[in-house]
Amino acid sequence: MTLLVANQLLKRFGALTATDHVSFAVNAGEIHALIGPNGAGKSTLVHLISGLLAADGGTLSLDGVDLTRLAPHLRVAAGLSRCFQVTSIFPKQTVGENLLLAVQAHAGSSFRFLRRRESDTELHARARALACRVGLDSEWERVAGTLPHGAQRKLDVALAIACAPKLLLLDEPMAGMGPVESAQMVELIQSLRQDMAILLIEHDMDAVFQLADRISVLVYGKVLTSGTAAEIQADARVQAVYLGT
Ligand code: ADP
Ligand code: MG
Repeated sequence: MTLLVANQLLKRFGALTATDHVSFAVNAGEIHALIGPNGAGKSTLVHLISGLLAADGGTLSLDGVDLTRLAPHLRVAAGLSRCFQVTSIFPKQTVGENLLLAVQAHAGSSFRFLRRRESDTELHARARALACRVGLDSEWERVAGTLPHGAQRKLDVALAIACAPKLLLLDEPMAGMGPVESAQMVELIQSLRQDMAILLIEHDMDAVFQLADRISVLVYGKVLTSGTAAEIQADARVQAVYLGT
């Protein structure tokens, strides 16, 4: 089943066309990786999908709902959530306070909870469960800004999945990580796939090939090709882009 459909998404910055009529689809239950050289338009595409940037053309839908003209918070209500390339945690609050804010925000905005507000105990339990899910339960009392980089990224993922999205957008979740932290992030992303589809932008090709069911390659704002890891690795055009041959 197709979940996200991006159709002919166009974004121009002055004379530069950052995404040039980009079309691709993410299926339910799929980890779809978006790769491509620096400046290819990957982050711009994520901003167009999340609604942070307005497209100059094209349409976007999630699970049959037209997102094209929806504000970012309404896209979240429709089932879309994202992590930024830079983390969006509150550094002076504890891990627990960060998570409670995220579950409260969701409980306050979600249609499901409009009539039946959850009690503090329920919200607390949900925040705790999120901490466990990303392996930060033992850091509940810790001020978030003092966590190591890898743990901050895990917290960022926990904040993004607090709204139980249908599709999670991850823009370079392994950026700045060493091999141990990267391996933990791969494991975390792997564990999320049972509950949501993921659009993953990542430079770490080992991680991409481990995680992705399908890969789309973006070059100069255009989709060069989409396929499985094996298909992408065997594609001479992709090799030419990466190896300059
Ligand atoms: P990627 O994430 O693939 O590295 P980006 O989407 O960040 O690429 O950038 C695509 C192109 O658009 C680049 O040439 C970049 O310089 C340009 N660009 C991105 N954001 C802006 C902006 N806000 N204003 C002007 N140009 C931008
Ligand atoms: Mg980028």
